[in-house]
Amino acid sequence: MNNVLVAKNLKKVYASKGVTYTALHDINLEIKEGEFVGIMGPSGAGKTTLLNIISTIDNPTSGNVTIGGDDITKMNEDKLSSFRRKKLGFVFQDYNLLNTLTIKENIVLPLALSKVGAKEIEHEVAKISDKFGISDTLNKYPYQVSGGQKQRAAIARAIITKPALVLADEPTGALDSKSSAEILQTLSDLNENDKATIMLVTHDAFAASYCKRILFIKDGVLFTELRKGNSRKEFFQKILDVLSTLGNTVTDI
Ligand code: ADP
Ligand code: MG
Repeated sequence: MNNVLVAKNLKKVYASKGVTYTALHDINLEIKEGEFVGIMGPSGAGKTTLLNIISTIDNPTSGNVTIGGDDITKMNEDKLSSFRRKKLGFVFQDYNLLNTLTIKENIVLPLALSKVGAKEIEHEVAKISDKFGISDTLNKYPYQVSGGQKQRAAIARAIITKPALVLADEPTGALDSKSSAEILQTLSDLNENDKATIMLVTHDAFAASYCKRILFIKDGVLFTELRKGNSRKEFFQKILDVLSTLGNTVTDI
């Protein structure tokens, strides 16, 4: 399988008021096409820093990141914004839907920005909303639907352009446990059935157990990794074991 993401010797040093802090030391990682990779680690480990760099929002101090063969650390802002729109899908904890647009308008926004024809847009949105069970929410506004429906709409928006990589940052952080499980199953199905490549950042072992591989970071270095066997429940237990060896089990939030 091809690599979708390759990060080499990533280092990030924050400097403020004459004080420097190295948040990422020397991170090397690869994500292959069709993988579903979780990033875990205690609060302050460097997860957000890593995600910001991979999502092209922040630059590393040194090292480089290629996504689909393109080195994002060498692109100017113009190229980056088109790259983000075409190659990356984003799913956030708080959905980031636009409140003045309907669910349908939110979902199709990336296609509309890419000047895709109206007929194709209609076709795509019908297909995707049917798959996610949100067809009857399309003409509603975000405030009129549940958290789980909002997040399914946000995932639909993230994948409607068929991005090379989907980046999900605590996508179940604002949801109750039933909706969380549904969203995680949705991501897992996208990965299994549509071969979507997904990177999920989470502090939650239950959420992480839906991934196929977990990378643990601690103090800005990759500490260890785990691969899922046949059972999600066993994987969940192994994740808890690693988290307890990482020391700080009360992570993030
Ligand atoms: P995590 O998401 O795993 O909790 P972060 O990537 O947010 O960790 O932070 C990693 C470390 O870098 C922390 O010690 C944090 O205080 C520090 N840090 C994050 N952002 C900044 C910043 N803009 N300036 C200075 N230090 C920062
Ligand atoms: Mg964070």
